[in-house]
This record gives sequence, C-alpha cells and structure tokens, in this order.
Amino acid sequence: KENSTRENNVAKIKVVVRKRPLNKKELAKKEDDVVTVTDNAYLTVHEPKLKVDLTAYVEKHEFCFDAVLDEQVTNDEVYRATVEPIIPTIFERTKATCFAYGQTGSGKTYTMQPLPLRAAEDLVRQLHQPVYRSQKYKLWLSYFEIYGGKLYDLLSDRRKLCMREDGRQQVCIVGLQEFEVFDVQIVKEFIEKGSASRSTGSTGANEESSRSHAILQLVVKKHNEVKEGKRNTDGNEARNGKVVGKISFIDLAGSERGADTTDNDRQTRIEGAEINKSLLALKECIRALDNDQTHIPFRGSKLTEVLRDSFVGNSKTVMISCISPGAGSCEHTLNTLRYADRVK
Ligand code: ADP
Ligand code: MG
Repeated sequence: KENSTRENNVAKIKVVVRKRPLNKKELAKKEDDVVTVTDNAYLTVHEPKLKVDLTAYVEKHEFCFDAVLDEQVTNDEVYRATVEPIIPTIFERTKATCFAYGQTGSGKTYTMQPLPLRAAEDLVRQLHQPVYRSQKYKLWLSYFEIYGGKLYDLLSDRRKLCMREDGRQQVCIVGLQEFEVFDVQIVKEFIEKGSASRSTGSTGANEESSRSHAILQLVVKKHNEVKEGKRNTDGNEARNGKVVGKISFIDLAGSERGADTTDNDRQTRIEGAEINKSLLALKECIRALDNDQTHIPFRGSKLTEVLRDSFVGNSKTVMISCISPGAGSCEHTLNTLRYADRVK
C-alpha cells in the first residue's frame, strides 16, 4: 500500500516544537521563562495561576512530541531535524509540506525563512548527479500568499491568482509564476523579493503579514517525457515538465488571529474567521493523513485546497510549532501546544 506510515525511514508526519529565547521586551518586563525543555522530546509549561483567594500557584503541563528544540538550537539544526531527511524522497515522487505554526512573534518567519535556502542547496546538489542531469530534472520555485481567502503571487507584484482543479484531482494555480532555480543565490533573492512583497498594511509589517499564509514551493520536474503541446498534470503548460516531487514551506498566519472573530472591525473579523477556518481544516487534514484515511477533508479552506495534491499519495508533513517562552504568552503557548498535540 502506498500510504505506509514510514517510507525510507522518514515519518509521514512529524511534529516538532521550537522554543525561542526570551526577547528584549520580555526581559525588560522581567517576564519569567515558563517553558522548560526537559528532554529532546519533552517539555513542561509552568502556568502561573491564581486561586480564588488570590494566592499564586503554578499549574504544570507536560507535553511530548517527535522533537523539542530549545532556545539554543540553531536554524541549521532545525533544518537537520525537520527538512533534511525528506529531501531524497522528493526525487521519489513525494510531495512534502513543512508548516510553521504559532502566535505572532513566536519565531515562525525566523524559522521558515532559511529552510528553503538550505533545501534548495541540497536539491540542486542532487540535480547535478549524472542520473538526474541526463533525465533533464529541473528545480522550480514559486512563492505566493493566501490573504483573506485570496491568492496573490509574491514574485509578480502581488498579482491575484485563482485556483482550478482538473478532472484528475490536480490543483492548478492559474497564472502562478514559476522560476527555474540554477543555483542557491537566486533562491535567496526570490525569498527576499517575495517576503518584501507580503501584505503590509498601514498598521505595520508584522501586524499584517501575521494575517496571511505565505507558501514557497520548490518543485522538481522531469523535462523529457512531455509531448509537445500536451497538457501537464499540474496544468502548468508554459513550463513543460512533469512534476516529480515537491516541497512546500508554509509560514502560517498567527494562530491568535483566528480568534479575531469578535473584533469591532469588520475586515478583521472576516480575516479572523478565514484564518480560524484554515487552521482547523489543516488540523483535520493532517489527522486524516495520520490515520491513513482515504477521505481527506481538504475542502474546508483555501489553504487546504491549495495543498490538496500534497495530501494524497506519497506525502510527508512536518509541523514546526513555534512558542514564546514568556509568562505573558502562556495561554497562547498552551493553545499552540494543544493544537500540535491534536495533530499528532
Ligand atoms: P513570527 O513570524 O512568528 O511573528 P518572528 O519570526 O518574526 O515571529 O520572530 C519575532 C522576533 O523574534 C524576531 O525579531 C526574530 O528575529 C526573533 N526570534 C524568533 N525566533 C528566534 C530564535 N530562535 N532565536 C533568536 N531570535 C528569534
Ligand atoms: Mg512572521
């Protein structure tokens, strides 16, 4: 059966937690660090609480995940613990997805930004192997955003995109620009260009980008099988090539934004509801994958619809849950850990 839990000794679903260090603001406020990484798979949250008579006490919450990375861990080590093992499977028809989940300010972007760069480095090295070179394997990159349930191309001036499904359950994002990756330097430039293009409203960059999901895809295609004029399975005619495998890096909207459904501002409410819907749908899809269900409820949101082809067949999912260690973030941290717990 195709959907075996382990292929090439790489787990089909991996849930990793990353704790960032206390930042200047938290240090200035003398916030306690309430997260203790007790082991490379365990952590404890010490939740400060008050009794009815206002005496303080601490409630302990223990969690276990596939890996728990503490504040000492570098981005390079994050790469090795999450994406690196998946890279060879991309050449064996795997569609992989790596998510960063967590509240705004917890380190999602800090964690996600370097990953495609490192992945591209490894993928390009593989492509240079004679076997792949002779079969005309190439690497392509695209970068887009889902904001308020709509798709925007981050590499072509935020052009609005739409999604289509063909009869073979393949998702096609009409008009999405894909660029060939020859070397790693170009990936760096694309990441910078695309990130600068993420939605930034009047209220400031982090504020607005926290309401969108950013999706960077690295796609390996084979270019010698396609007959001239024939439509490819992913609907991307212009780039003539058959998708072999791919990896999507997703910097999710701030998890706390899903709670903005009672905000006074109508637009904020609509966006909050959309984010809430997509994060719930994502959880349901990963759970269905984990249980080897044949029905994946991807229709629950734009995010999961876009990822449809990564939820079937040979799929690999890595969820990196980012958490802030400060006492002031305790409630959000617990929410993030409970979400990650349910995914597993
Ligand atoms: P998010 O994308 O979740 O809103 P960011 O990635 O922007 O959060 O991180 C918020 C701030 O914390 C940034 O200034 C970032 O540089 C810093 N930061 C996040 N994670 C780490 C880490 N592991 N080590 C050092 N600084 C970090
Ligand atoms: Mg961010």
